Amino acid sequence: SGLVVCFGEMLIDFVPTESGVSLAEAPGFLKAAGGAPANVAIAVKRLGGRSAFVGKLGDDEFGRMLAGILEENGVSTVGVNFDKGARTALAYVTLRSDGEREFMFYRNPGADMLLTPEELNLDLLKSAKIFHFGSISLIVDPCRSAHIKAMEVARESGALLSYDVNLRELLWPSKEEARKQILSIWDKADIIKISDVELQFLTGSDKIDDESAMSLWRPTLKLLLVTLGENGCNYYGKSFMGHVDSFRVDQVDTTGAGDSFVGALLGKVVDDQGILEDEKRLREVLRFACACGAITTTKKGAIPSLPTQDQVFSLMKKGC
Ligand code: ATP
Repeated sequence: SGLVVCFGEMLIDFVPTESGVSLAEAPGFLKAAGGAPANVAIAVKRLGGRSAFVGKLGDDEFGRMLAGILEENGVSTVGVNFDKGARTALAYVTLRSDGEREFMFYRNPGADMLLTPEELNLDLLKSAKIFHFGSISLIVDPCRSAHIKAMEVARESGALLSYDVNLRELLWPSKEEARKQILSIWDKADIIKISDVELQFLTGSDKIDDESAMSLWRPTLKLLLVTLGENGCNYYGKSFMGHVDSFRVDQVDTTGAGDSFVGALLGKVVDDQGILEDEKRLREVLRFACACGAITTTKKGAIPSLPTQDQVFSLMKKGC
């Protein structure tokens, strides 16, 4: 199977021991591995594929713990660097009773932001069949320059580029800057995945319809996806568009659903890019990806709830 290389942040999430409380009300916190690109790498591997993570961690206990989690999960860490000065980034995250996610970041700077272009493992990037990234690594230098260079190296070696926006508004200096920088690499990607909320943010409109999504279409794209939580996803290809439903499950914690969805898609596309031009097969793959996303919402935390193939097939057999 082809190699999926995921670039960006990996950090510690501190999650309240009780659910439905604000950060201030939380009686205590449990640590969990976080960072969307790292989750995607683990999602790919758990479904039977091959993946690597590229990023920077603190040369501290948390950084080594995170690298250990990647390794335990079979994700290559040859592209992981450790910073001697800065700490592994922390994020306190809670899902309040009103359903809103609340974040508080300790990252000034976090080791993830300090990855330099010179530190990139070029051989690893050149061996990528898919190079996947988000937008958090675009916020500040030197990580931003490393991100741009890594995209170029992977692209020149023939990799497909995949972009999951994964907006974290709090980390940007302003909404305008976030929108501008997120869109600045829009024409570099072959596959882009956004959520319904990100669609609204990027277009500046309340609408989540086809017209709104198509305003983000570019001729350079092969596939644009808008995920809709329990309502599945909308897809936009070069010559087709449509909707795929998800599966009904008992939702416990949505953390990582989007990463699970993306990992599932990339794991299929990496060995068969024809999927992107064949609507019938694409729909089957998206249905599979929706099942992965759905399963990921049924347990607390992202990594523990990323599914294996067997779990996905059994949900798909059950239907709904
Ligand atoms: P997150 O940021 O929480 O990781 P996201 O906002 O990027 O996720 P979502 O739209 O929440 O992405 O979820 C991705 C996919 O997972 C959806 O397209 C859907 O197929 C599936 N999914 C998410 N939540 C549910 C749910 N409650 N029930 C069924 N399927 C779900």
